[in-house]
Amino acid sequence: ARIIRFHHKSEIRTAPLCKHFSVCGGCKWQHLPYSEQLKQKQQQVYDAFERLGKFAFSSMADIIPSEKQLYYRNKLEFTFTSRRWLYANEIDGDTQIDNLTGLGFHIPGRFDKIIDVEHCYLQPDPSNSIRLFVKKWAVEHNITFWDIRGQLGILRNLIIRNSSAGKVMVILVVSKFFDGLQHLLDAVAAAFPEIISLQYVINEKKNDDISDLEVILHKGDAFYIEKMGILDFKVGPKSFYQTNSYQAGHLYNIVAELAGLTGKEIVYDLYTGTGTIACFVAAHCAKVIGVESIPEAIDNAKENAILNNLTNTQFFTGDMAKIFTNEFMELHGMPDVIIVDPPRAGMHPAVVEHLIVSGAEKIVYVSCNPATQARDITMMADNYSVAIVQPIDMFPHTHHVENVVLLEKIMMAR
Ligand code: SAH
Repeated sequence: ARIIRFHHKSEIRTAPLCKHFSVCGGCKWQHLPYSEQLKQKQQQVYDAFERLGKFAFSSMADIIPSEKQLYYRNKLEFTFTSRRWLYANEIDGDTQIDNLTGLGFHIPGRFDKIIDVEHCYLQPDPSNSIRLFVKKWAVEHNITFWDIRGQLGILRNLIIRNSSAGKVMVILVVSKFFDGLQHLLDAVAAAFPEIISLQYVINEKKNDDISDLEVILHKGDAFYIEKMGILDFKVGPKSFYQTNSYQAGHLYNIVAELAGLTGKEIVYDLYTGTGTIACFVAAHCAKVIGVESIPEAIDNAKENAILNNLTNTQFFTGDMAKIFTNEFMELHGMPDVIIVDPPRAGMHPAVVEHLIVSGAEKIVYVSCNPATQARDITMMADNYSVAIVQPIDMFPHTHHVENVVLLEKIMMAR
């Protein structure tokens, strides 16, 4: 829906921090005080679980806030545009706008509309400085910005990633090799010594997806190491890593605590991604089996296990509904504890069915969508009871809420 007119604004409404608020899709809840955001997220989880019927609300814990409410992301992808989005006051005013180039974010739902971002509150410095530097340098040297409708121009995307220790990876995506490319990258490297990895991609395709393209190293290392507790994780230009590093540590601690491992268990980590949860719990159980559909993520997971000298992890690639079968469990050992962290759509019914068949004592269900999570849990209601519901805020100023649920096997009367 689109707002046409405000009749009366809520008393709890607060002034959003960002000048791009309302147009940018990034932080849509900035007009709510953080305490209210948390209340709303808690309510979202409550509402989803209330539908379960038998659920005892005493098992619902208070949402864990994010310590950092600003600059909490470790990755942002900006898009270059030759015709940036104009604000109403720019269109109405008489002033001539001579430079229409922009480097920023897509307007939600509008593939061809990009706002030029002056300051983004999502990623710590030097993210803003790097973005502004690249834009200024490119304008001064007449390097063209991408025109998505005409499929013309050189500069396409700028991806910035950072580790908790302040190391920075920059990936510039261009439509073709051009004379000034090395010069531009050298200028960026010279201006920002924090950049320990500077890479570029040549993308001649219509879309912005670089997952099937070669990433070329210009300077530094091809990856950086992110630390979580005593573990090291290797993050490459295409690797998935939880975007709020600090809060990810909290999330994994909750998962480990709820799993209540003693050292003897066989643990399955389904939808393991790059194996981060699997590696996190490996020291506390007999063995961990990680399963995931993206082969490159499984390659990363195996590398992460080696990097951390873990010898009790095994990783498998496959579509969960097809790979997670009775035969799979018989082959790798029946699980005592299963951790699942599916995408927003939740789990395929066949996966839910096999969770029940597994007979695991505990299931820890991590979800970024309490609605599908509650739906899946409803299907298991005869066999598993909800012991603890623990929401956690990973993404302040957005409506997104992460929720962890501990399910315990219901002991059947003989
Ligand atoms: N647990 C991981 C991230 C999980 S995100 C972490 O904390 O980092 C969800 C993962 O599920 C993604 O890596 C995605 O590739 C994977 N996935 C999505 N659909 C899948 C399917 N049908 N079968 C197996 N894995 C799937």
